[in-house]
Amino acid sequence: MKCKECDETLKVQRRCRQVRLTCSGCKKEYQIHEVAAELDPETEAELERFTCIIYD
Ligand SMILES: [Zn+2]
Repeated sequence: MKCKECDETLKVQRRCRQVRLTCSGCKKEYQIHEVAAELDPETEAELERFTCIIYD
């Protein structure tokens, strides 16, 4: 999963009850619903490890 801004890798980050994707390059944060349509299987699998994700 790549950042739309700078092409660096997005990392799944869990914070309180929310999960965000954070860019390792420009530090931009994406909410899951912003990128839901473009999630790759790898990122999706990682998200599935979080059992009570809130897609806010
Ligand atoms: Zn970025």
